[in-house]
Amino acid sequence: MIDFRSDTVTAPTKAMRAAMANAEVGDDVYGDDPTVNALEAMSAERFGFDNALFTSSGTQANLLALMSHCERGDEYLCGQQAHNYKFEGGGAAVLGSIQPQPLINQADGSLLLADIAAAIKPDDVHFARTRLLSLENTIGGKILPQSYLASAQALAFEHGLKIHLDGARVANAAVAQNIEISDITQYFDSVSICLSKGLCAPVGSILLGDPLFIKKARRWRKMLGGGMRQAGILAAAAQLAITEQVERLAEDHDNAAYLARELAQLDVFEVDLSLVQTNMVFAKVRENYDVKAMVNQLREKGILVTENTTLRLVLHSDISRKDIQYFITSLKSILK
Ligand SMILES: *Cc1c(COP(=O)(O)O)cnc(C)c1O
Repeated sequence: MIDFRSDTVTAPTKAMRAAMANAEVGDDVYGDDPTVNALEAMSAERFGFDNALFTSSGTQANLLALMSHCERGDEYLCGQQAHNYKFEGGGAAVLGSIQPQPLINQADGSLLLADIAAAIKPDDVHFARTRLLSLENTIGGKILPQSYLASAQALAFEHGLKIHLDGARVANAAVAQNIEISDITQYFDSVSICLSKGLCAPVGSILLGDPLFIKKARRWRKMLGGGMRQAGILAAAAQLAITEQVERLAEDHDNAAYLARELAQLDVFEVDLSLVQTNMVFAKVRENYDVKAMVNQLREKGILVTENTTLRLVLHSDISRKDIQYFITSLKSILK
């Protein structure tokens, strides 16, 4: 199957399988897993932080970040479209007693600085305590400009807020701008990075921060059942995600641009090419067109797409230029 549903579907590479088979391991809850320790040390170094923590998922990394920055009765500011508001089961509220204060995401994915400033609550018993600003980059495949990150950081600092980045796809943002991941992460007090999306690791994310923050996060991780024992098996693949898969993302971005241009030529779709900045293409289907039938016919041809009035197509290492050409040919024959 050619699977456009997400970059989470990528299988580990051959090199990852070999590294996993040969990984030196120990009990990571005791701090004894050399492969996990090496991954955490390498991540902290590369991404410009004092400490790092290997987590079971991006959702867990974000939850640990929220629970480590905020206490019961605190709140975090984030986008209405933020993954850690909309797509993580309300974990911050359920498990952290932390209130989200969502703000409108602009078309480019950013939050207006004026909206952020206006949402910061005064010190008053009526209000939750505003503690944290949480941004996402990339968001819906779009890149937040570096100058925006600097302004957001300054605003957070001015108001005594911490600033977190959900950087699930921060590697895509860095590669697309031809800068280092640390050029982006430098603006944040904490960052979560998914290694199991475009970077091809089978499982796992990295959470970055200062020693006290990571100490708190490690405690929450254990409480949430995230102490993973011989996790070096997973960390071995995660290391290769960071050292061998980052630059390759450029191919996914080229493929996304190619796919977007091809789809834009078909009457049934509307594609805003300016929003295709990394590995995602959003194609709005013309009203009254039977999307369900199209998705079913595509499946019969070996192509998986999530059914929606706007199709989200995600490029990754298991989709080649040839696969895209086959997809376009198949679409044309279905649309005939
Ligand atoms: C996928 C994703 C996550 C969560 O990662 P999981 O490993 O799927 O839990 C968090 N934030 C963003 C922006 C994501 O795309």
